[in-house]
Parts: sequence; structure tokens; C-alpha cells
Amino acid sequence: MRFSRTLIPTLKETPAEAEVISHQLMLRAGFIRKLAAGIYTWLPLGYRVLRKVEAIVRQEMDRAGAQEMLMPGVQPAELWQESGRWEHYGKELLRFIDRHEHGFCLAPTHEEVITDLVRREVRSYRDLPLNLYQIQTKFRDEIRPRFGIMRAREFLMKDAYSFDVDEEASAESYRQMHAAYQAVFDRLGLRYRAVEADTGSIGGSFSHEFMVLAATGEDDIASCTACDYAANVEKAEVVLAGGELPAPSQEMASVATPGTHTVEAVARFLGVEPRAVAKTMIYMADGKPVAAMVRGDREINEIKLKNLLKAAEVVLASPTVIAEVTGGPLGFSGPTGLKIPIYADQELYRQAAWVVGANQADTHLTGLHLGRDVPTARQADLRSVVADDPCPRCGGQLTLDRGIEVGHIFRLGTKYSLALGANYLDAEGLSKPIVMGCYGIGVSRIVAAAIEQGHDANGIIFPLAIAPFSLAVLPMSASGPAWDEAQRLYQELTAAGLDVLIDDRDLRPGVKFKDGDLLGIPYRLVVGEKGLKAGQVEFKHRASGQVEMLPLNEAVAYVVNLVRDHGGQSL
Ligand code: ATP
Ligand code: MG
Repeated sequence: MRFSRTLIPTLKETPAEAEVISHQLMLRAGFIRKLAAGIYTWLPLGYRVLRKVEAIVRQEMDRAGAQEMLMPGVQPAELWQESGRWEHYGKELLRFIDRHEHGFCLAPTHEEVITDLVRREVRSYRDLPLNLYQIQTKFRDEIRPRFGIMRAREFLMKDAYSFDVDEEASAESYRQMHAAYQAVFDRLGLRYRAVEADTGSIGGSFSHEFMVLAATGEDDIASCTACDYAANVEKAEVVLAGGELPAPSQEMASVATPGTHTVEAVARFLGVEPRAVAKTMIYMADGKPVAAMVRGDREINEIKLKNLLKAAEVVLASPTVIAEVTGGPLGFSGPTGLKIPIYADQELYRQAAWVVGANQADTHLTGLHLGRDVPTARQADLRSVVADDPCPRCGGQLTLDRGIEVGHIFRLGTKYSLALGANYLDAEGLSKPIVMGCYGIGVSRIVAAAIEQGHDANGIIFPLAIAPFSLAVLPMSASGPAWDEAQRLYQELTAAGLDVLIDDRDLRPGVKFKDGDLLGIPYRLVVGEKGLKAGQVEFKHRASGQVEMLPLNEAVAYVVNLVRDHGGQSL
């Protein structure tokens, strides 16, 4: 493509609204423009990257035996009512009513629609297994769209759905998708990790997330340095060392703690460490109050709490509700005398005496022993793992990293087939529910994740496989031999099947170099008069900055081979 004929509106300044580097660089490189919160237009260069990601995903899905199709983005309320998710999906589901007063939503995912299709079209075990996928625009009314296309409201997803006769066959489909995902992320050239994950609102029994490792990731992941255990911190189990639980060591006593609304304040006031305090948080679980307790220096893992309670939603209770159920104000809640269910983190049973709120203003209790003084409390794993915790699988050491979730695979079991009645007839003629799996890839998010991982002070550094162009040709003058030679190289490289951008703008070389670096194009051929006189062109690697002089007559073959050998693709 010719730079002069392509819409590449690069920006010199970093746009103030962009917090993370990928968002800044995508705006600066003229890849995307914002239309509304979380809703973006893909400009020609950004769209080239997106299509290259899409192509790799498509090839690997096809190779794994999945079949591509396309489902609607607008879906009828009835189907979502049948699965029960019309009520449970929450506000991310954008609902609307058509002129005939029929309810619809913009699809955030397609379990309902695909299960509806399969219940109509699949009759017998002979029709299974089946794996159907699409690459399609999703809409989720995210509460906090941010980081550009990383957490958008409208975004491109690949979603695949597998249908099998039983759990064993479904496990095999899951393994195949797991392997296909590894092939995708290997080819994309990204550093990533597959981690055990929570199943969230999609449901099901078992899932893995694929995380691109990056400091700006929104997810914390724990991995073992000794074995191959890796899990999202939302889900990673805390396994405490065994041993006798300590017996009570003190009498419980009430102490005045004026104005100490936080763990830090009460610890300071009493001259103890925050870890000597147990905090009690009141939550509403599907509208019913519960108390959850963790050590003062820990945080409640709300996903674990939600799963423990099998609740669709847990949110912190309001000060009014806290006053109602505890009799005391916010900041002084404790476990004694409560009439609501109490869940205490397992760690709280490993220490004999705790400071807790007394459910009374400006008052705490000391010397509380959970087993003795709160016998109704139920022990549970309620906090997130931290770096010092042992690996739940091998006891080895855990490390924590940050990751960007770019893929998520689930074993769904029969959740949707039972809800929607998707059955098949087995060899004996018995009707059985189809066993399902679903498999998502955030196609558009991958573009941002790749930039989070690949950039420097000058701009983007794309892996070759998804760069908008494999190569840029830069003539150092707008006429004469350098111009003519650059045109020839451009034509020959393009004819050889490479994606090439020629910067044919009549601008200073410095401007072209800057833009070339910003756009993240992996290789650059610089054609100048001086080099030509010596029969050479300059070849530069974007990532390493390495420069080579290539003999003019060998340049095309050299570049073509290099791009081919390193997984370059053309659109
Ligand atoms: P997240 O926890 O990031 O909200 P999710 O668990 O809701 O993700 P899934 O329902 O598993 O996501 O969707 C499959 C994939 O779609 C995710 O792995 C992610 O890469 C991508 N994705 C999800 N939400 C968004 C979004 N708001 N913007 C861009 N991509 C998204
Ligand atoms: Mg989400």
C-alpha cells in the first residue's frame, strides 16, 4: 500500500484520555478512533492487524475441526428467559423493545442461540460431536469501559461451542480446543499462560483462561515455580498447613476504641498489628445478608464468597442494612450475636485470640476465639492467595503475575441443554441431554494485548504475524534513482506476496522514520542515493534496532525468505 493514499492519521501528542500504553499507541498510530464510550471505529491499519489476528484464529479453529458460521447480534428475550439469564445476566445485557413491544438484547455471548439451533437440528448421536464457531461482534454494557478496545462495550470475539454425547467425549473436545488455543497464541507470538479459572456468569464446571502476561493486565495470576499449576487469583485455592487448631488463650473482653473505623485505626489504637484483627464484612447475597470474616490485613475474595454461597450476586451491604443486622454502625461489625449466616476464613481458626468489632459504636472485643465464641461460624476459603502461600497442588512456591485475559474455555456440562431441552437419541433410542463446551477468544482485545507486550519509547513493536505490514519501504527522496529503486522493490516484494507499505510521501526522512517506528512494522528497507551508489540498501529490524546493508540484487529474496521463515502473513 501507498502511505500517501492510505488513511493513517498519526498523532504526535499522547491523547490525554488514554491511560494505558496500548490505547495511547493505537490512537497515535491512527488505528482506532472513539465513537462513544467503549465503542470504536477501526481505521485501515488497525483493521489490518485485527484481520490478521482473526485469520490465525480462523485457521487454527478450522484445523481443529470446528465449523465457521455466523449468528445474529440481536437476540429475542424469550430465549434468554428460557435459560434463566434474562434475570441473571445483569446490566451488561443491553435490552430493548422493538416496535411490536417484543423484548430483545444485543448479544454479549451466544450460548442461547446456538443451543436453540442445535436442539432443532441435531437428532441423534450420529450427528455428534459437533463444534461450531463464529467471529462476530459482541456487545456488553460494561460498567467501566476503559483502556480503549481492551475493555470495550462493542468488541470482536471468536466464540465456539462444542456438542458431545457424554462428559468423556466433551472432555476430549475441551482438550482439542485447549491445544488449538495454544497453537493460536504460539503463532501470534505472544508470551502467555493458560490458567485455571472461575466460570463466572457463563456457568459450567471447569475452565481455563489464556492470559497474555503484561504489567497492565487486570487479572492477577498465581503460578507455581515447582510444578505446572497456574490459576487466576480469583480462583486459586489457599491451602494452609495442617496441624492442631489452637485452644482459647484469653477471656473475651470489651474495650472502648473511640473513632477507630478501620482495621489500621483499631490496630494502632490497641498497639497490635492489623493481622491480629479479624474484620467482619456484611454482604448482601442475592438480597440476603451474610457476614464474611478475614484477617485484618487480607481482602475478601468476592468470587470465592459468591461461589461458596452459590449466589448470582454478592455486594457489600449499605450502612443502613449493617445497622439493621448488626445493631452497630459501619466499621464496628463483629461476629458475636449475629442472627445471619457467618463465614470465617480458615486462617482465623489458626490463631487463638482476635480483636473484632463489637457491633456497637466505638467498641471492640479482644480475646475472641472463633470456635469458642462463634460456634455457628462456618470455616471457608475466603481470601485470595498471596505470594507466600504454598502451591495447592505440590506445596511449592507460588509467584504472582499480571495478565490480560485473551481467551476463556469452559466445560458447560448440560447447563444450557437442560434449560433449553437440547437432547439427542443414543444408540438405544434413549433421549439424553447434549454435553456442551464453549470457547471464547477476545480477537480485538488481542491487538491491545500484543501492544502492551510489544512497544518501546518510539512506538509499537508488533510480532511479524500480526503487523499491519511485514515491511516498510522508505525512499529517501521523492524523485531520482532512490525513488525509482524504492518503487521497484515495493512492486517486486508485493508481487512476491508480502504486505508492504511504501512511504511515498514527500516528507523529510526523519518524519518517515518516526512514523515507521510508531506503526510497529517489523522490517524497514531504506533506499538512499548513497547506498545505491555502493549497490546496497539498508535493512532495519524494528525490535532489535539491528541494521544490515543488503546487496541490491539480493534484497528481495532475502526479505521474502525472512518473512516467510518467521511466520509473516499477508492479507
Ligand atoms: P473479563 O473478565 O475480561 O470481563 P469475561 O470473562 O467476561 O472477560 P468471556 O465471557 O470469557 O469474558 O469472553 C471471552 C473473551 O472475550 C475474553 O477472554 C476476552 O478476551 C474477551 N472480552 C470479554 N469482555 C471484553 C470486553 N469488554 N472488551 C474486549 N474484549 C472482551
Ligand atoms: Mg466480563
